[in-house]
Amino acid sequence: MTIDYNKLEVRINLDNLRHNYRIFTRFSDNVIPIIKSDAYGHGLAEVSRALENDASTFGVGFVNEAVLLRRSGCKQRIMALLGPIDDADFQALWDHEILAAMSHMGQLERAAAMAEERGTLNIGLKIDTGMRRLGFRPEEVDELIEFLKGHSKLKPVMVTSHLASADVPEHKEHVHGQARAFEAVVGKLREAGFDVEANLANSAGSMVHPPCHMDSLRLGISLYGGNPLHGTQWADAGQELKPAMDVSAPVMQVHPLGKGEGISYGWTHVAERDCMVAIIGAGYADCYSRSLSGKGFVNIAGRRAPVLGRVCMQMTAVDVTDILGEGTEVVPGDRAWLLGGPGDAAITPEELADWWGTITYEVFCLLGMNQRIYT
Ligand SMILES: *Cc1c(COP(=O)(O)O)cnc(C)c1O
Repeated sequence: MTIDYNKLEVRINLDNLRHNYRIFTRFSDNVIPIIKSDAYGHGLAEVSRALENDASTFGVGFVNEAVLLRRSGCKQRIMALLGPIDDADFQALWDHEILAAMSHMGQLERAAAMAEERGTLNIGLKIDTGMRRLGFRPEEVDELIEFLKGHSKLKPVMVTSHLASADVPEHKEHVHGQARAFEAVVGKLREAGFDVEANLANSAGSMVHPPCHMDSLRLGISLYGGNPLHGTQWADAGQELKPAMDVSAPVMQVHPLGKGEGISYGWTHVAERDCMVAIIGAGYADCYSRSLSGKGFVNIAGRRAPVLGRVCMQMTAVDVTDILGEGTEVVPGDRAWLLGGPGDAAITPEELADWWGTITYEVFCLLGMNQRIYT
């Protein structure tokens, strides 16, 4: 899975990750780290090990990722948020003791039939209270309860639903509407005798919507130090978060670019003055997006250097005139930080996401595919 054809280095600070996790234990004594998609690019096994003394449940996406996590040695409860898709997934629920969220009748019927042979299975139930992706609708709950009562080898132990816009202040009422709809479903399940743990809140829901806290929190982006409320009036709620990922690439060459000369493909940038450029060994093949062309900055020696012209497949040109002018040397072999880096010039995940035209989630998932080291 790791990109191994380049010289990028992704550094993961596991202390920062634990720091972020512990912020959320103020809101709940049951915080479930969401480590799907290779822990948002931070490493599935490494992140689970870093939190194994803090968390009793981990959440991943597909069942095959849950199996990878189990095989890495994880002893905690593993929840597969996206549920079983094919026969291998269904078998794995028993083979590897995976708690999968079931989101439609077809999955329950198949699991119930298998349970006759393989024995009792703990399951999760996914309720669609407004995201409109996966899950049983609240109006299907009576039918759901009837089915579960007739199939006692399926044991619902968790019920979950997902917030569609917990990070949008204007949608607060809608968010709380989801919480009410979810509570009604949870109430019915409990009345029917099912002892279920209920969780609804993602990072943003945990930070600013106490009515969504329920029994446990599902913590994703904030665990990695991304602030889901960046750019909103609630942004301060994330001020204690510390990014856990830094990404650097080597300086390959430093040379002058004369006034009037173009640089990189298409000569989209023409120098307005005599300047000095550094060529950095990172490009879109390394998941440093081409949409950063002419927009991004890198951090070299604690100073910012703007991207000049197009980001190429494995190289990007940056302007180091001012850095050299202040007497700081920049030579081949130095590191240029695409994310993070030294001093006040540290590039935040939110800044990089803004230049890139995306969100921190995508920045982490993509850059995290490069070779990682852990500190
Ligand atoms: C990804 C995910 C989360 C975590 O969301 P963040 O916004 O990253 O905190 C929680 N619940 C479900 C179902 C998810 O898919």
